[in-house]
Amino acid sequence: MPLNGKMLNYLAGEWISSNASDLLSVLNPATGEVLGEVPLSSANELDMAAGAAEAALEDWRRTPAVERVQYLFKLKFLMQDHFEDLARTITMECGKTLDESRGELQRAIENIEIACGIPLLMQGYNSEDIARGIDEIMIRQPIGVAAVIAPFNFPGMIPFWFMPYAVACGNTYIVKPSEKVPLTMQKIFGLIDQCGFPKGVLNLVNGAKDTVDAILDHPAIRAISFVGSTPVARYVYSRAAANGKRAQCQGGAKNPIIVLPDADMETSTRIIADSAFGCAGQRCLAASLAIPVGEAVTPFTQFIVESTASRVVGYGLDDGVQMGPVITKQSKSRIEQWIDLGSNEGAEVLVDGRNAVIPGYEKGNFVRPTVIKGIPPDGMVARTEIFGPVLGLMPVDTVDQAIALVNSGKYGNMACLFTSNGASARKFRYEVKAGNIGINIGVAAPMAFFPFSGWKDSFFGDMHGQGLDAVEFFTQKKVVIERWPKEWSRRF
Ligand code: NAD
Repeated sequence: MPLNGKMLNYLAGEWISSNASDLLSVLNPATGEVLGEVPLSSANELDMAAGAAEAALEDWRRTPAVERVQYLFKLKFLMQDHFEDLARTITMECGKTLDESRGELQRAIENIEIACGIPLLMQGYNSEDIARGIDEIMIRQPIGVAAVIAPFNFPGMIPFWFMPYAVACGNTYIVKPSEKVPLTMQKIFGLIDQCGFPKGVLNLVNGAKDTVDAILDHPAIRAISFVGSTPVARYVYSRAAANGKRAQCQGGAKNPIIVLPDADMETSTRIIADSAFGCAGQRCLAASLAIPVGEAVTPFTQFIVESTASRVVGYGLDDGVQMGPVITKQSKSRIEQWIDLGSNEGAEVLVDGRNAVIPGYEKGNFVRPTVIKGIPPDGMVARTEIFGPVLGLMPVDTVDQAIALVNSGKYGNMACLFTSNGASARKFRYEVKAGNIGINIGVAAPMAFFPFSGWKDSFFGDMHGQGLDAVEFFTQKKVVIERWPKEWSRRF
């Protein structure tokens, strides 16, 4: 397995060098250092992965679930043994701080742990005597070959919202990491290789759009999980569905947080700043709009400005750093253009993160944390995902106005409320149109045993990743009706 070289594919239990002539450099976003090269695998190479997965399917699905999960137990322990090395790899290729990398790996491992309960979780149900001598049974069987197409921002975690459940349920699997951050999966597949999974159960194919299109069109692939931006999520969902596949596609977000005057202002502001600027705002559950209500406006603005301006920005491997770079030079300039546009739309830039230069890391893609106040609700900045460390403030007078503002957005990934009032909290929880809700929580990320929800333009499909939704997604139901009247037994 190479590092600091060309990434390999992993097909049918073997490391294979792609013959793709298109190679992209993988860069450390903090230092600009080249970490390796990623091949953009062809449709033929994807076909080899799908063939390997298809060939492995029948034996794997006949392997008892209690045996299948033994491989996942091994993977969990290997990932724990290599935890620090994997976390450093995530920081080096993705830019987040080491603690943030540890956090995402921890959630990956938790998903393996939950999937190890599959012998219980994938049980069906039955009814005796639906009519005299007739019983009815629901059995869950694996759906077949499945694949995940992952984004750049959680290279160690997001494939694990799906993969452990898929293979635990008896499916075989293909992982297509983001071409921006292929190293982490390269290392994780090195561990998968040590687990002794039968050949073809888990496969890794590096690539970008052409590889994705090959996944979407391959007749052997029955189910697709996608996480990424909304336009691509919509495209993947449509093309997968047109090809008769089951698809769950998580898209982008613009997450609002309401702050009521009765909230504990200092604590709330600290939590909200962590939400907005953690992972440099490149998190689908990052707070991107803060909506302080009435008398909350003045103290909230004061605290958030202080908290934002004092945030330590730098290389995620260095001690004391609270925020790393954004993923690419293009992201940096796109985010800075959004701040320009906010200013042009009439907002006031209270803390300006443009043109950041971090001493010692002059080649890094840094944008410092930014706060802009008074962005117009119907403007572009209020309605578009920026995916960077930019928090927009939109003060309003009442809770009803705040909830209306939340519900007017096209996304529905997360919405949060800060308050000490139970009735306000219940009203918010009841009325707000989003899939992940936080009450006095800044990043409402569901645990592995809850679905990672998401509504509106943040999700296309029915069943989500993680927990019981994942079991539902990776199984198909077979209903059996059996007639065994007692008089037939008496014949012998
Ligand atoms: P992206 O949409 O650019 O890429 C995601 C995946 O799609 C990658 O594997 C990429 O190779 C592939 N891809 C890109 N363009 C494609 C195209 N035109 N056709 C086919 N495939 C294509 O997303 P990203 O920049 O890697 O990730 C950031 C986005 O992901 C943000 O919008 C963020 O909100 C979203 N995200 C959402 C969630 C969620 O849970 N809803 C979680 C993490 C990230």
